[in-house]
Amino acid sequence: MLLAATAALALGLSACGGTGGGTSPSGADEAPYKVADNVSITGSPTFDTIKSSGKVRIGVKQDQPGLGFKDAATGEYSGFDIEIAQWIAASLGLAKDKIEFKPIPSANRESAITNGDIDYYVGTYSITDKRKQLIDFAGPYFVTGQGLLVKKDNSTIKTEKDLSGKNVCSATGSTPIQNIKANFPDTKTTEFDTYSQCVEALKSGQVDAVTTDQAILLGYAAQEPDNLKVVGEPFTTEKYGVGLKKGDTALRQFINKTLTDGGSVWQKIYDKTLGQSGTKVQQPAVDNY
Ligand code: GLU
Repeated sequence: MLLAATAALALGLSACGGTGGGTSPSGADEAPYKVADNVSITGSPTFDTIKSSGKVRIGVKQDQPGLGFKDAATGEYSGFDIEIAQWIAASLGLAKDKIEFKPIPSANRESAITNGDIDYYVGTYSITDKRKQLIDFAGPYFVTGQGLLVKKDNSTIKTEKDLSGKNVCSATGSTPIQNIKANFPDTKTTEFDTYSQCVEALKSGQVDAVTTDQAILLGYAAQEPDNLKVVGEPFTTEKYGVGLKKGDTALRQFINKTLTDGGSVWQKIYDKTLGQSGTKVQQPAVDNY
């Protein structure tokens, strides 16, 4: 519903162009932003690490088409989250070839951030109060909601109200699995580290549905439209944030400013990734808590 409400507003934005139009971070394909020069962020331990190592380690997903996806043949990453991650890196002064992507599943995100295994995380990571006890979030940079993926020939599950007695799969440590366990007591759950494992379980008949953010599920359905479908409307609100080490306020504010000042960049990134499905949305306002 949120998507629909903002659809009309978003329509006019992409035509405006904006002030982007810089050179690509890699020089290979055209990116709608430039790699910043002489960046300094006072009081950010994470930025100090990035600066002294000359590279940035970004936690991502690798099996979520349209959002964070690694091509097995080429090793190339693509998707909306990947583009957002690269845009932030460019604003910090790091070109594409200075980025090390680290695939990290949902359950391991907080520990990867608190242990310092990554500098920041961009991968369908919902901002929640519980997670904020351990880490900080810049953003939000995207809003979606929990949805359902079923086999194309399934006629019994049309909405979340039909999940009683069904076996539903989601990723360990994710907000959707927590929601099912807390609020759908008659629903059986199956968990894996990743959503692609859930999709395999759905196709083999081991589970009746996969549940996670609708933006993720639409990516799987688009890959196999003859076999899979998304049903119902989003039944939660998931706001995606950039996961950061707790207390690095200087970096959080810097990334929030990049997101806030770069509306035309955001729109171009959206249009070339998730927007290809025809869905129109508007960039959400950041929460500078
Ligand atoms: N956005 C939800 C979460 O952060 C589900 C997607 C995911 O597991 O990455 O838990």
